[in-house]
Amino acid sequence: MPFLKLKKPLKGLKELRDFDPGLSDLAALLIGAKPVLYTDFSADGWPYIRGLCEALKLKYLMPEAVYGKAGFKAVPKSGKRMLLIGRGTKALKDAAKSWLRSPTDPAWGLLLGYPECCVRAYIEWRSLAAKTDLVNFTFGRTLKKERFHFGLNNVFNYFSRLTGQPADREAFARIRAANKDLDLSALQVISWHPCSYGCGPSAKLAGEIFSFLSACLPERAAELKERLGKPVLFRDKYEYLVLAGSAKKGEARYSGLSEPRGLLPEALLKKIEAGNLLKAGKDSVAVFRGSRPLYKITSARPFSLLDFTASKG
Ligand SMILES: [Zn+2]
Repeated sequence: MPFLKLKKPLKGLKELRDFDPGLSDLAALLIGAKPVLYTDFSADGWPYIRGLCEALKLKYLMPEAVYGKAGFKAVPKSGKRMLLIGRGTKALKDAAKSWLRSPTDPAWGLLLGYPECCVRAYIEWRSLAAKTDLVNFTFGRTLKKERFHFGLNNVFNYFSRLTGQPADREAFARIRAANKDLDLSALQVISWHPCSYGCGPSAKLAGEIFSFLSACLPERAAELKERLGKPVLFRDKYEYLVLAGSAKKGEARYSGLSEPRGLLPEALLKKIEAGNLLKAGKDSVAVFRGSRPLYKITSARPFSLLDFTASKG
């Protein structure tokens, strides 16, 4: 649903579009969590963006017109162009001057207003990206392994996480096809990747962005919490399942599986669905129905139970 009706008009606007720019990014800009955002856009989307910026007194700049196509590019042949939107002219110009920087230059992430700890962790991950998915990297850096703020759930956020390799592109296309009624790219509260699932600055901002969304777009906010605030049994970038339930100390109690759907084998899903309690161990997942053990699922690559059920950081 591309246009969402606001609960009450926002500076004369009655609705917001949920892409170009993404809502979480726009919310972060409007509450002052970010000074600048960048987005791509198509020509037919321009009247909306211009109207949005005029109503909300936001400034904008097309960096490619000034700095060429080096640096961050719109997807080739998409016909889209890149745009920077900011609250003030100075922040906008500073970001535009950095357009040629690499996304792995810390200055770029900091200009966009991401917490410094998260910018540094993301850059560290980029050198490992071919071997380790960002979510496993982030979980590895997380000290306390349970009750993460749901706003830090980036399992479905593939932005800045795709490697561009053919196998990765193919898996990304398959996971989108498996969730064709859901817009995975809209399932996020923070538009950046946290440095750990215990990151204090990101959890604080997630809470603020979510409060803004709750006040303006309560139905969308409720949907985000519903989708993101669940335990996820996670093996790899496209191999996970979302549990309808709760988790505690490495155990999840659940009534079934939720969307989005990952790309785990159907036989494995059936085993999990047959139970209502699972325990994620180092090299296996034990599935129970009540106290009765049903299956022990072993896997060469370990599963982790990511518990995104907290509302406070
Ligand atoms: Zn952080």
